[in-house]
Amino acid sequence: MKFETKAIHFSQEPDKETGAVILPIHLSTTFYQEGPGNHKGFEYSRTLNPTRKVLEEVAASLEEGKFGLAFSSGTAANMAILSILLPGDEIISSSDIYGGTFRIFEKILRPLGINTKYVFTEKPEDFENQITEKTKMIWIETPSNPLLKIYDIEKISKVKQSKDIVFVVDNTFATPYFQKPLNLGADVVVYSSTKYLNGHSDVVGGLVILNDQEIRKKIRFYQNAAGGVPSPFDCFLVLRGLKTLAIRMEKHFENVKKVRDFLIKHKLVKKVYFPDIENDPVYKKQMTGFPGMISFEVDLDEKQIDTFMKSLKIITCAESLGGIESLICLPAKMTHATLGKEEREKRGIKDNLIRLSVGIENIEDIIQDLNEAFDKASK
Ligand SMILES: *Cc1c(COP(=O)(O)O)cnc(C)c1O
Repeated sequence: MKFETKAIHFSQEPDKETGAVILPIHLSTTFYQEGPGNHKGFEYSRTLNPTRKVLEEVAASLEEGKFGLAFSSGTAANMAILSILLPGDEIISSSDIYGGTFRIFEKILRPLGINTKYVFTEKPEDFENQITEKTKMIWIETPSNPLLKIYDIEKISKVKQSKDIVFVVDNTFATPYFQKPLNLGADVVVYSSTKYLNGHSDVVGGLVILNDQEIRKKIRFYQNAAGGVPSPFDCFLVLRGLKTLAIRMEKHFENVKKVRDFLIKHKLVKKVYFPDIENDPVYKKQMTGFPGMISFEVDLDEKQIDTFMKSLKIITCAESLGGIESLICLPAKMTHATLGKEEREKRGIKDNLIRLSVGIENIEDIIQDLNEAFDKASK
């Protein structure tokens, strides 16, 4: 089965008893046992739930991976992966990462004696140079947030000198439709399914996909023991979102390219952050398209930026991304405020940087909205 077909049919045959074509939502927290310990694979819903099980299977199949594990948020999924580390272990992370992931590294792990070193370039050798015998994990996000840098997954996977180092790729932006990190050498793929996978801005969720049985055991243990599991209803919604992932991603891609063309030409736009998809060899090697994400620096002062954001009528000023609706944010004051100005500057996140998640509305409406807001802001 191909991607689009798996999203709709994999593990989702009509219900044997009722014929229901769409998977029921199993709300029961507990499951009948014919005798003590004799059950059908489900005991208690935190441990495993039939709706969650299908989501985990479908997500793994779309990734061409063996195992899927679902969580109550992308952050909970991150924590579950990081739970395999012990005090004294070290993480090497790309510098351009989700603000909340940076917060876990600095505010939760560092006080526990798990230190993170950051790599400020995309060069695989700069990752390699940071490796010590304490290194137990390499963590990247590609494309990254908010500067949309692309890291060479295959090359970075090869800098691991030992099998002890677990290579994690946050694939939230690309989704398995455009990029499959496990096939490129990653050990673990993590998602905030809050974003494109669910795609409708109505679920907070996370997913971990992997092939290695030993790592799976540890993360699966943490999933049950720490308990950050998604509700059956949320699993149902993500499963529903996945069914349209392919067509949504195609539309996001089509729209973002037109927004890029518009922004590049606009006189109030100083710099556009979007990969050179026509020429970049790394993009061409590992991605088959690009999500609706684009960032840009504007030639406007703080007050004018405020006017620009307030003047938008269709594009909504809000955190998050990857939904059907276009969302815009100012990372310095919103998603990346937690970093502080100094850390932001080190990472090249300026106060005039705007991040746009291009939705699947009609592209003419999106561009008209941007154009009119620029006019109002510059008056
Ligand atoms: C949103 C996001 C997360 C965190 O996920 P939550 O579902 O908000 O907990 C992690 N990584 C990336 C790239 C994200 O965009």
